[in-house]
Amino acid sequence: MNRTFYDKLIFELSHKGRKGCRVPAAVASDDSTASLPAALRREKPLLLPEVDEPTVVRHYTNLSTNNFGVDTGFYPLGSCTMKYNPKINEEMASLPGMSALHPATPASHAQGALKAYWTLQSMLSEIGGMSEFSLNPFAGAHGELTGLMVIRAYHDANGDTARDTVIIPDSAHGTNPASSAVAGLKVVEVKSLPDGTVDVEALKPLLGPHVAAMMMTNPNTLGIFESRIPEITRMVHDCGALMYYDGANLNPLVGVARPGDMGFDVMHINLHKTFSTPHGGGGPGSGPVGVRKGLEQFLPNPRVVRNDDGTFDLVTTDTALGSVSATLGNFAVQLRALSYILSLGHEGLAEVGPMATLAANYIKESLRDKYLLGVDRVCKHEFVFDGLIDKSTGVTTLNIAKRLLDNGFHAPTIYFPLLFHESLMIEPTETESLETIDAFIDVMREIAREAAEEPEKVLNAPLNTPIRKPDETAAALNPKVTYQDLLANG
Ligand SMILES: *Cc1c(COP(=O)(O)O)cnc(C)c1O
Repeated sequence: MNRTFYDKLIFELSHKGRKGCRVPAAVASDDSTASLPAALRREKPLLLPEVDEPTVVRHYTNLSTNNFGVDTGFYPLGSCTMKYNPKINEEMASLPGMSALHPATPASHAQGALKAYWTLQSMLSEIGGMSEFSLNPFAGAHGELTGLMVIRAYHDANGDTARDTVIIPDSAHGTNPASSAVAGLKVVEVKSLPDGTVDVEALKPLLGPHVAAMMMTNPNTLGIFESRIPEITRMVHDCGALMYYDGANLNPLVGVARPGDMGFDVMHINLHKTFSTPHGGGGPGSGPVGVRKGLEQFLPNPRVVRNDDGTFDLVTTDTALGSVSATLGNFAVQLRALSYILSLGHEGLAEVGPMATLAANYIKESLRDKYLLGVDRVCKHEFVFDGLIDKSTGVTTLNIAKRLLDNGFHAPTIYFPLLFHESLMIEPTETESLETIDAFIDVMREIAREAAEEPEKVLNAPLNTPIRKPDETAAALNPKVTYQDLLANG
């Protein structure tokens, strides 16, 4: 790689004695360590780059431009709902009264924050058709785990302790079986039909007194609406098990249909998907879990309640679950979601799903003569191509994804779901303009043309990203985690 001055690592720019800030004398004095136990004191000074402020600012600003984000461009990452996060949400989350609130502030001094929490909890209950939500879990998978623990606690409370199995469709997100395993439950897979929906006939023999729950995503990870939900929920309830709704994909349904009305007992919502908080690289997230009437007492501690006089309280009960997070979860993410819901209002929220669905179907229909449709049906907010129709070019889904980066678009989700060999899972969101979506379609068509006429371009992509195609295996087997490693290896 040809490195310019600004590609240098921050340690290479270090200059002995150079300072970017002045540390107040009291902190810097030797006395300040006097109260620290000797065992905790650092023996050698910490190795830090010694640089001036402009160098630090330029270093991080330049680094940030090597990255791709929703604020940089279209990010059609299927299953992840990478929607634009309106800036008003950031303003609300950074109000000093909210962002500077100490987690241990007594309820009497945190009425505004508790009201915000309670309001969001009530709105999610309304949106999901549930009786009560706990906003405490930190992510979708954490919400699943909490929900499954609620289900276990419910069966235990009924003395129904032999129920140790969860039924999960083969199209499910990987977190579903993982959360079940963490909750101490066994997983049984139910197959999908060629049309992408759960095979109800295959489900029947799997049911019985050992089943604790069935988990479903609707629309499923193929973006297909599971039209036989009423029948499935009846069968599962008849065998004494509960229905769990993985609501990470709530985007197309929000304001249109409610999992509670479909017969689901427990659900989670990903605030960092449907409710606009930006996410990626592991955070930040929030996975509120909701329950139908009769299951509220199994929700984790603490819960926020509104008293008759309109004030709010934090309550801790002897719930079987105890608590699942520090205090009330990821409060800044909750505030962004509340701001998003309030700024859209009832009417705005009801337009989200239909617009996202329209965008997905528009892209699907505009590309179906070049890309192979795994399941050829009207989709909801996302859909899956099984690579190019013309497989003779040798161009794979990975190559297409890399070539999109050359053209300024983030790649869709690739090689998931596992139902197809060359999955390319595309999810536009309602926040994208028609012009952006048309530009994406043009690039996808151009990549199909290149694949046929000049495949080298696609096979060698990306050609103009700051970092070309990294060797992912070598990076995992032999990670370079210090700047000396990087310098030694170029
Ligand atoms: C994203 C997603 C999850 C997991 O959510 P995390 O916040 O990443 O833990 C679960 N199920 C589905 C369908 C998802 O799309």
